[in-house]
Amino acid sequence: MSKKLVVRNCTVLTLDERRRIMQDAGIAVEDGKIVKVGPADTVSRGFAADEVINAKGCIVMPGLICAHTHLYGIALRGSALIVKPPSDFLQILQRIWWPLDEKLTNEDAYATTLAACIELLMSGTTCFADTYSAPNEISGSLDYIARALNQVGIRGIISFEATERRNASEGKRGLNENIRFIKKRNKGKAMGMISLHASFTVSDNLILQGTEASTKYRVPLTIHVSEGPNDLYHNIERYGKGTIERLNDTGALSSRAVLAHCVHLNHKEIEVISKTSANVAHNPMSNMLNAVGVTPLRDIVAQGINVGLGNDGYIFDMFENMRTAFLLQRLARKDPNWPSPQEVVEMSTINAAKAYGLSSIGSIAKGKRADMIVIRPSFIATPYSGSVYGYVVNGLKGLDVRDVIIDGEIVMRERTLAKIDIEDTEKKVLKSINRLWRRLGSSPHEAVEALQENKH
Ligand SMILES: [Zn+2]
Repeated sequence: MSKKLVVRNCTVLTLDERRRIMQDAGIAVEDGKIVKVGPADTVSRGFAADEVINAKGCIVMPGLICAHTHLYGIALRGSALIVKPPSDFLQILQRIWWPLDEKLTNEDAYATTLAACIELLMSGTTCFADTYSAPNEISGSLDYIARALNQVGIRGIISFEATERRNASEGKRGLNENIRFIKKRNKGKAMGMISLHASFTVSDNLILQGTEASTKYRVPLTIHVSEGPNDLYHNIERYGKGTIERLNDTGALSSRAVLAHCVHLNHKEIEVISKTSANVAHNPMSNMLNAVGVTPLRDIVAQGINVGLGNDGYIFDMFENMRTAFLLQRLARKDPNWPSPQEVVEMSTINAAKAYGLSSIGSIAKGKRADMIVIRPSFIATPYSGSVYGYVVNGLKGLDVRDVIIDGEIVMRERTLAKIDIEDTEKKVLKSINRLWRRLGSSPHEAVEALQENKH
């Protein structure tokens, strides 16, 4: 690892407080921290760098931050699950996700984390917030996830999704796994948080305990909120109140809270979220996949609520998620002016960092940790200088990311991962997923075997 690194000759999209964009600029990094940002010559002057990255023709921006994911969702890609077709969101959970959860082992946690982290990193994401669910192997699961992310070299806020969908003791064990991991020392680049599944699978008691733990250990608290309409039905029938009202009454809403989805909210609920300074994680591609509806994002942002962009375990290239967030709102609201490309980039960097209380990442500024991506499209059709935000949202994809730097360490150089052997990992991951698919009992594992035979 270079202790002193300079990245120079590039366009820098800083996302700093003034949202500066610099041409022909440079960034100096010392011991993982950004020490200078400015014109390329000034940055290099008097700075004896151990390594210089010539980023001529590149855009350098903060590493992308995925504000909500389920890394193990990658196991579903390409699987031929034979299930009765679901007709709504609750059935998607009951017929696809929950049966998958029940088959997961710690080995799957490890393999799917490796696979998803490699995809995230290679497409420019340097930090993510994950919630994992495996009711039959709860204890110790977060250690497997942490081990995998540290092997890849990416940052992650990880958690076990506590749920009482089968019984109360399962919820307690899930919460305890989070607390165990939060208290653990030497987690490398992994951080802990508290995760509750959704209001319709947790009791008031578990929400109270989760909130208490989040306050006590000063970590984020995340929960799925109003992804489908069933949260509302459940809370009205069982508690006589709306979803946000119930969460607020149990004390769960605060600046530490990250509410995933928020598709079905009314104006009053948006006002309550705003008053409590809770954050929202927006997942447009997953919302489209599950056909749950369109988040009232304009109203949420207009109330000053901080929004981060997530992928909900679906498409791991955050450039695709940015583009979808940008396009879906324009179409749904028939407004070709909102959101702006800048707002979408902010949701994937500085706002996502803020949602999880991570003030040391999310922008390129003096004093911040050096989490940066160097982007070089294979063909540059137009100059970046007109609208860099527009270029990022309308023109780029994960494959355009050339180098990735996390904590000042170059973890991907010229599209080659520095810390992990990709071919060897691919073999291991495919074996694991193959075993998982066999246990799911309805998938053509032969396809994976054939693929392996062809390759090796
Ligand atoms: Zn989710």
